[in-house]
Amino acid sequence: MLVETLSVFPDMFEVPMSTSIIGRARKKGILEFKAHNLRDWTHDKHRSTDDEPFGGGQGLLMTCPPIFEALDELVSTEPKPLVIFFTPTGQPFDQSMASELAGHERLLMVCGRYEGFDERVYTLADRCISLGDYVLTGGELAAMVVTDAVCRLLPGALGDEASAVDESFTQGLLEYPQYTRPAEYRGLTVPDVLLSGDHAKVREWRRKAAIEKTARLRPDLLDDAWLTDEERAFAEQLRDS
Ligand code: SAM
Repeated sequence: MLVETLSVFPDMFEVPMSTSIIGRARKKGILEFKAHNLRDWTHDKHRSTDDEPFGGGQGLLMTCPPIFEALDELVSTEPKPLVIFFTPTGQPFDQSMASELAGHERLLMVCGRYEGFDERVYTLADRCISLGDYVLTGGELAAMVVTDAVCRLLPGALGDEASAVDESFTQGLLEYPQYTRPAEYRGLTVPDVLLSGDHAKVREWRRKAAIEKTARLRPDLLDDAWLTDEERAFAEQLRDS
C-alpha cells in the first residue's frame, strides 16, 4: 500500500513513520510512505498556503490554489488514490473504517493547519475524516494515527497475524483482560484458568471476560457486537444489572 500525506509540516512524519511496526512494514515493502510539502505547489516568494477569511473573523484559512494544484498532479498518477481530508467535521474514525481503508492500494491524506480549509477544497475529497470531537492544531497527527491503525492491518505487518484479529473493536467488543509474568505481584493475582493450560477453557473465559469488560466500560458497543443468542442474553443481563 502507498500512503501519502500533503501538509505544510512534512518533517513531522519522519520519526513516527520510521519507527517500530510502521518502520518494519516499510523496510519489508508492505507500506510505502511519502510526505509531500504543500509549499512545493506555491508560486509566491513566501510560499504561502493560507489567507484571511472572507467576511472577517479570526485566524487564517488554507487556500485553494496549492491544494488543487497538488492534487491535480498527485491524483493523475496510477493507481488513483483515495483522497482523504482531515477535519473535525468529518466522519469519526474507527476500527471498521481502518479495515476499509486497509483495502485500498493508495491513500492520499490532506492535513489542515491554521483555522482549517477553504470550504471549496472539500470538492476534491473522497472522504472527510475526524479523529474525534476535539480540535487538534493540525491534521498531521490525524494522518499518523490513521496510517498507524491501517498499517497494522496490512498482511505481514504484525509478527503474529492473530494479534490484529483478537484486539479491541475487531468483533465489536473490547479486548479481554491480559496478564503476563509474574503470576502474583504485590498480592495481585492472575485468574487461575489462564494458568491451567486448558486452551478451550481459556478461550471460553476470554470471550466471557471480553463481553463483561465491554458491558462495564463501553455498553454502547454491545448493540453492534458479533454475539451468539446466548452471549447476547448474557450481555443484556450484565447491562441491566
Ligand atoms: N476551525 C476548524 C474547526 O473548528 O472545525 C478547526 C481547524 S484545526 C485548528 C486545523 C486542522 O487540524 C484542521 O483543518 C484539520 O486538518 C486538523 N484537525 C483538527 N482537529 C481534528 C480532528 N478532530 N480530526 C481530524 N483532523 C483535525
